[in-house]
Amino acid sequence: MQHSDFDYDFLVIGAGSGGVRASRVAASLGARVAVVESGRLGGTCVNVGCIPKKLLSHAAHFSQVAEEAKGFGWQLAAPQFDWSTLIANKDREIERLNSVYDKMLQGSGITIIRGRAALSGPHSVLVDGRQTLTARHILIATGGKPSLPDIAGVEHAISSDHAFYLPQLPQSVVVVGGGYIAVEFASIFNGLGAKTTLLHRSQQLLRHFDADLGRVLAEEMQGQGVGFQWNDAIVAIDKQADGLHLQLKSGQSLVADCVMFATGRSPNTEGLGLAEVGVQCNDKGAIAVDEHFTTQVPSIHAVGDVVDRMALTPVALAEGTVLAHRLFGQGGKSAPDYALVPTAVFSHPHVGTVGLSETQARERVGEVQIFQSTFRPLSNRMGAEPEHVFLKLVVGSADQRVLGLHMVGEGAGELIQGFAVALQCGVTKQQLDATLGVHPTVAEEFVTMR
Ligand code: FAD
Ligand code: NDP
Repeated sequence: MQHSDFDYDFLVIGAGSGGVRASRVAASLGARVAVVESGRLGGTCVNVGCIPKKLLSHAAHFSQVAEEAKGFGWQLAAPQFDWSTLIANKDREIERLNSVYDKMLQGSGITIIRGRAALSGPHSVLVDGRQTLTARHILIATGGKPSLPDIAGVEHAISSDHAFYLPQLPQSVVVVGGGYIAVEFASIFNGLGAKTTLLHRSQQLLRHFDADLGRVLAEEMQGQGVGFQWNDAIVAIDKQADGLHLQLKSGQSLVADCVMFATGRSPNTEGLGLAEVGVQCNDKGAIAVDEHFTTQVPSIHAVGDVVDRMALTPVALAEGTVLAHRLFGQGGKSAPDYALVPTAVFSHPHVGTVGLSETQARERVGEVQIFQSTFRPLSNRMGAEPEHVFLKLVVGSADQRVLGLHMVGEGAGELIQGFAVALQCGVTKQQLDATLGVHPTVAEEFVTMR
């Protein structure tokens, strides 16, 4: 087939973070682009991920602020929270973003096709089983979906997708898991006033991060009223008049209004016709791609959560950008450095981390020096509940290079972004020491640790 024989140069399945970014870059480089979307424009991040989560997380913070304000002389009437106002305003903001995405895509000359796509050949896609479209290159950017365990009564439980649309705030919630979504939603429910229990199969939150982060976060969340059920699992859920009765592996039982599983997400590959066309998946069910994000079929590519290298929006954006430049530009952009992706968890308090954990650093470089500090920030010194900030630097002993920088404390997400630039530039401990602090801030501690 000649170039002009195809309907499009680039056909993208999925208008989420990776798909939209790849489409826009490809269009800006002169490609004829179409994007097929079965749901709402913007994908997970905009509709049921980063954005609504951050709005709910922000909402949950106010109960703490109201409490802290007392120590600073404010006499506030007992705060009243209204779930339906929060959800209606959140929905309005998401609809606004959906329309921004629509305008952005159309403004870039990209054709938006509504429907569910499946591969029907190395250069063709079938939409809703009836419309065939051809393209020189096809991108699969279909993201992921919540993964719930196969237990009796699981249909009575929800995932994060549903949490954003609950008709009312439950009075009591059990959140299962110990990863990003579990700790973020446990903090949201707790902050908004629900009796919240986090149930986890081990005693380590955020297992893939520096172990101190999960430990400190658990202590802080406990201080804020979250209950923990460690080393346990739900084996069955029974819906009764007074709520959901949870039978636990430990032999204990719990009753709650709502059970939310945050036990990971799996790549969205169902019904895509991958095997028929020769696109292979790895042992985690993610689409297998090479370092250029191309599958075994040279005209079919994949980025974002569906390749499951690192399920974060900036990673999907970076992967989509690299791919579009390689296919339609001069190339020249390299895949993100996955070892140096900064990330934040919007629990209360926040967690921010970039680089290697202490354990990873010891495995990779041998001898390391650890600098860490735990303290109460000034903003919290007069509050009722003591909240601590935890900061940690992992430094290679041989060359003094900062290998990892970690934090638990409000604002960690904002703070980690700047330090990520320093780590990207190969900052050493001496260079941090030579940098003057901004006083009085939490961040200055990173340049004054001795
Ligand atoms: P998605 O954004 O999931 O987009 C995939 C799109 O493909 C969807 O719109 C879907 O409808 C569409 N689709 C699927 N199958 C088909 C088909 N067959 N035909 C047509 N269309 C199809 N990341 C962060 O960086 N920061 C955060 O704070 C953050 N918070 C999160 C909170 C939650 C609760 C969740 C679930 C995720 C969060 N993430 C966060 C992760 C982030 O949302 C994802 O990494 C990111 O959205 C992945 O982008 P993507 O393009 O790979 O897929
Ligand atoms: P995570 O992989 O972060 O955490 C999953 C958790 O569930 C882990 O604690 C895991 O335990 C536990 N788990 C897994 N399987 C089971 C099971 N069968 N039974 C009981 N527990 C189980 O996934 P999330 O769902 O929290 O989030 C998915 C991804 O989305 C994240 O990895 C992240 O990339 C992205 N995300 C990013 C956010 C951000 O940037 N702020 C926010 C939300 C999501 P164990 O630790 O023992 O493995």
